[in-house]
Amino acid sequence: MSTSANTGFVKNDEPVNRQTFDEVMVPVFAPASFIPVRGSGLDLWDQEGRHYLDLTGGIAVLGLGHTPREIVDALVEQANNLWHVSNYFTNEPVLRLARALTGATFAEKVFFCNSGGEANEAAFKLARKWAHDRFGEKKNRIVSCFHAFHGRTLFTVTVGGQSKYTEGFAPLPPQIDHIPFNDIAAAEAAIGDDVCAVVVEPIQGEGGILPADPEYLARLRRLCDEKNALLVFDEIQCGMGRTGKLFAYMDYDVVPDIMTSAKALGNGFPIAAMLTTTEIANSFSVGSHGTTYGGNPLAAAVACKVFETINHPDFLARVVDAGKKLRASLESVVRDYPDVFSQVRGKGLMLGLVMSEKYHGKAAEITAEAGKQGLLLLLAGYDVIRFVPALIVSDEHIRQGEKLLRQSINAWLKK
Ligand SMILES: *Cc1c(COP(=O)(O)O)cnc(C)c1O
Repeated sequence: MSTSANTGFVKNDEPVNRQTFDEVMVPVFAPASFIPVRGSGLDLWDQEGRHYLDLTGGIAVLGLGHTPREIVDALVEQANNLWHVSNYFTNEPVLRLARALTGATFAEKVFFCNSGGEANEAAFKLARKWAHDRFGEKKNRIVSCFHAFHGRTLFTVTVGGQSKYTEGFAPLPPQIDHIPFNDIAAAEAAIGDDVCAVVVEPIQGEGGILPADPEYLARLRRLCDEKNALLVFDEIQCGMGRTGKLFAYMDYDVVPDIMTSAKALGNGFPIAAMLTTTEIANSFSVGSHGTTYGGNPLAAAVACKVFETINHPDFLARVVDAGKKLRASLESVVRDYPDVFSQVRGKGLMLGLVMSEKYHGKAAEITAEAGKQGLLLLLAGYDVIRFVPALIVSDEHIRQGEKLLRQSINAWLKK
């Protein structure tokens, strides 16, 4: 091992730029050419002082936008009181947050951790443990969907349904099968007596903004009941107000056994939760699972305030309203560029603008052009431009976004 590269003291105020990323960061990301330094609501500014309208919501994380005043206040107040005490103690913010989450959902128990992947890891471990305790070690198969995304730990990436993310990481955890999303016959064939859990995103996010059919989720519920398997909803992207309901399952009339939440739960401060019933939670006991930072007072105080803000009828009603307006805006774009786009799909403020066959694989060219025009957009796969803006998006933001989007499409078509 070489120690020679460490030649001395690097002052922390030396300028950094995009090239620094390539020099010192493990190359798993390909970030934009500019570096954001400040944000407020849906406004973002880079190192050069350039302004961007941010419709990415930090990938469905910033429900309340950048640096929301009331959340900053909650964070600073908690930062002045208590940051961390370890799991040998509990703390007030985490108990308040657990009470709020269980009070507002099907769940009776919560486990907190730091990321979506960890929440799913806990969910899948719990499902295996529960089935093992009640039915023996042969009941261990996990069924999930192609194009699903559940995180990047080896277990969760294997449960996720995109083989490009597991290539080269074998051996993978066994007894995990994938079925086509929204395909009832495939679910009936795959969910046998050896299945301990069926995992699904009520609206597939990374897979392309695809809502589950109501009959599909209802059928999964019945199949799980018949086969004594747990139904796990990954609401990490579609939950926390994004669809206009607090959680997406509330619109489906299908109640899961385990649900995971992250992303918008902390509005950018890392926190995630796995929610379940007392009966299922009791398969875990002291020492069966854990985390150093999960449910720490800082993260929990932030999430408490976020949750209190989002879980309000007026707030959720505005998400529905804004979702309708954004959808109408995107549909007008589809109408005016029928060659380029085929449809708008999704729910609430989780919408996808789908490329036509003719421009298959070209979505990234449009989002790149949008960046140049000062509009930040996301992709979901190669053929969907994903809109998951802050839930506080205003009518004016939507108008401005449409204008910049049309400008970007025109500039791109001219190339
Ligand atoms: C983002 C996401 C995850 C992973 O969350 P991390 O915090 O990146 O680990 C899991 N499931 C879904 C549906 C997601 O959108």
